Parts: sequence; C-alpha cells; structure tokens
Amino acid sequence: MRPRPFVVLLAAAAVAAGCSSADPSPETADTTAAPMTTTAPAAPTTAAAATTTTTTTTSTTTVPPSALTGIGDQAGLGDSLYPDLGNGGYDVAHYTLELTFDPATDVLTGIATIDAAATIELDVFNLDFIGFEILDLTVDEQPADFSRAGRELTIEPSMPIPAGEAFTARIEYTGTPAPIPSRALSFQVGWRTATDGTSYVVSEPDGAASWFPANDHPLDKATFTFRVTVPTPLLAVANGVLTDTITDIGATTRVYEMDQPMPTYLTTVVIGDLDVVDDPAGSAAAGVPIRNVLPPVVATDLPPALGEQGDMVAFLESVYGPYPFDLYGIAVVPEFPAALENSTLSIFGDGFVSSPLFEFVLVHELAHQWFGDHITPADWGDIWLNEGFATYAEWLWLEHTEGPAALDQITAGTREQLALAALPPPGIPPPDDLFNASVYRWGGLTLHALRLEIGDDAFFTTLRTYVARYGGSTARTEDFIAVAEEIAGRPVDDVFDAWLYGETIPEL
Ligand code: ZN
Repeated sequence: MRPRPFVVLLAAAAVAAGCSSADPSPETADTTAAPMTTTAPAAPTTAAAATTTTTTTTSTTTVPPSALTGIGDQAGLGDSLYPDLGNGGYDVAHYTLELTFDPATDVLTGIATIDAAATIELDVFNLDFIGFEILDLTVDEQPADFSRAGRELTIEPSMPIPAGEAFTARIEYTGTPAPIPSRALSFQVGWRTATDGTSYVVSEPDGAASWFPANDHPLDKATFTFRVTVPTPLLAVANGVLTDTITDIGATTRVYEMDQPMPTYLTTVVIGDLDVVDDPAGSAAAGVPIRNVLPPVVATDLPPALGEQGDMVAFLESVYGPYPFDLYGIAVVPEFPAALENSTLSIFGDGFVSSPLFEFVLVHELAHQWFGDHITPADWGDIWLNEGFATYAEWLWLEHTEGPAALDQITAGTREQLALAALPPPGIPPPDDLFNASVYRWGGLTLHALRLEIGDDAFFTTLRTYVARYGGSTARTEDFIAVAEEIAGRPVDDVFDAWLYGETIPEL
C-alpha cells in the first residue's frame, strides 16, 4: 500500500520517530511519494449528487438472507466492517463494461451488462452505483423500474426472478465520473482525473460504484470484459488481456478480457497520453508477459527497479506457486500518493518511480496478485490477509537479495517500533482507518511469528497450500489458520490469538 501522505505521516508518527531509512515497508515508502498537494480534484457536483430518484418506487418485500453468504440482504452483504457494501440475493458471473470517455468533455457514457444468477426469488435487487444519469435499464431485455438512494440502485424487474435463475441486467448511463468518499480512508476512491487529463481508477475498498453499477463487495468475484473507447491517439488500458483493437474515425476501442474472477475493488481503467512498454527480458524471467503503462518521460528513462519485476515474479513463484494471471505490469499515473494492486495492472503514483524504496513497493504490489487478487478476503475485517502478506513479501525479497541477517534486522526493528506505537492489532482494524500501519507491519510480523513457531518447511508449505486451496476464490483468517494447523500437525491458534488480536505486540 502506499496510502496518502497524511495517513502516512500518522502511521510514521505512530510507529515512532526515527524509522530506519533501510525499512522498506510501505508506510515509510509513502513518505517519499508524491506530495500531498497532488490529490485529485474534488468530485464535480454532477457525479457527487448521491441521491437521484429516477422512477417509481420499488417493492419493499422482505426477503430471506442471501444464499451467497448466508448473511446480508438486498442492500448489503453483512461485512463485519461495512455491512451495507455489496448486495445479497444474487451472484454476478460476468460484467461487460462498454465505456466511452472523452477527456475533452470529461463525459463517460457506459453500458454495463451484468450476467448474474438469483440465489433467492428476487422481486427487487440492488446494485451499488453513485452519480450519473441512467438512460436505460432492462432486465432480460424488459424495461425495469428502478430507484436510487445513496449508493443503492434498486431494480424491480417486470417479473420476479425465481431462485436459481440466471438473468441479465443492462444499464446505460452517462455523466462525469468523479472520486467518491470512502468509508475506510480519509481520501476519495474510484475514478480520478488528474490535472494533465490522465484518468485512472483506484477503488479499494469501496470505489467501484463511482464508475459502474456493481455488487461492490469482494465476496462476489466475477469475470470482466472491458470495451473502452477513447479519442485517438490516447491509450486506454484495463485489467486483463487485450483481445481486440478497433479503430474508427477519431476514436479507438480496445477490448480487454479478465477471465479469472476479480473483485470489483480491483477493477481499473487507465486513460491518457501513455505508452505500453513491453519488458521482453522480464517476461522471459517471469514466464508471463510483463508490460508497463508509462508516461513518455518515464518510458524513455526506465527506472532500473522496473527491470527487476520478472525476477520478482520468478522469486515469488518459487515461494507461493505459479503466478495466478495471464500477464502483469504497472501503470504509472500522476497525482496518486499511493500504489494499488489492481489485478494484472497495479497502479503507482509517479512519486514512487524515483524513490529508493520503489523496488520494495514493486514486490509488495506484485505479491498482492496472489494475496488479495487471487485469494481475496471474504470480509474487510480480514484485510491483514492482504497487507500483512504483501508486507512479508517485501521482507522475503530482502532476505532473498541481502541475506538472513537483513530479515532478522527488519523484523526485530519493526517489532521494536510497533511496541512503542499505539496501534490496534492487525485482526481488529478500525473501519475508518482500514489501511493503518498495523495491518501491514504487525500483520507481516504475524507471519514471521508463525514461521518461527512452525519452522521454514511447514511455513512455506502452508503458504503454498493456502494459495492452491483458496486461489480464485475468497478466504477468511480462520481458513489460513486451519491450513497452518493442518500442515504443522498441531494447534497454532495461540500464535494467531496473540499476534492478531492481542492488545500489545508479543515478543518474536
Ligand atoms: Zn498493500
């Protein structure tokens, strides 16, 4: 993670003054990133208007809990931190997002076609969607009534959808996309447009509703097709593999397929005056294509650390098992003081490119492709399964490149700093500060404590088994603990109780 500067400063202060400059953890990396003055512009009023009642009212029938999870209702999936995120009653299989964006006018026109299956009989169902004017809405090609309140778009199909039936919702919309406030962060998430006209999406955890109607909770992973049309010669990139490029007069449409399940919070498009830069040597080392999406000024003067990504893929594969997707790379964008592990295309603020810690942030976001993207937390309260694992990957890379003494130093030093800080334990993240330093560093140390407890063989077998078992799907903390106990052949819940939920950080 590379949070925004104020969070960074808070984290750095909380973790105690005098952080080692050799500490590659993301919180310190943040301090070297883009300055605070470069945050994205506030939401324009058109898209910020959260409540727009467009048509008639909907049924208020009470329905049983979602079969997707056994919890939740139409307006939320019962997440322990954010109960209203996502929607129960159905399971999305595939989103097709046809998007036309013109940076000259800032207007995004979209057609979202959502293939889903009802898990209960649906008189109505909800999607998460903020802003935009809805031009047309159908369910199975029949016009459907809808209403809007906050982030909830409530749709009433002309006929109830029986439990177990597949259905297709099609929503056509237009407006000026803009970032939206997050429940988890003190800065806005979703679609951002920088002052130079570059647009990009950074949604974790709750920003997907700023650009398409979504079941915006990681429990409902789905495959995606993106068809993005922008004026020529601008570039548009999205998650997944480029399968088609269609040129028309003045405009180019590119089609990207993400055919492995992806949570909505990792969906992205990046649009701008950017170059796709292939990395043949890195691709050979990685065994999958590596391409980066870079501003020309970066493309013509490639930062050396970027050339290490292929070796990083090979190293992490040796630890976790095969890289989970068909390609990888980063996009470098302006005015984002953070980095985010969007599937197959991590996004980095341009401040990282010249940072001495760039290498470690590259490893961090790459490791998220396994932990976060391939295995996705089933509940935001389990965020340490993302951030603790990605932070530990930085330390594994340090051990790999500089030897075991460097690992001992970073883990002992980090523990010492955390012992002086007033942070919550990583298993109990505050809902309004989800990406606090504890889920990263204390979470990373939790894995190190497990390794010291069960030994290297059992520890690395646990990681590989967990990836093999839960890859492509979602997991909870107890799922990981169960794998560790199975591999260790004995209970290890004491380790996790102390490290994830204890008020003070244990000794290593
Ligand atoms: Zn992270």
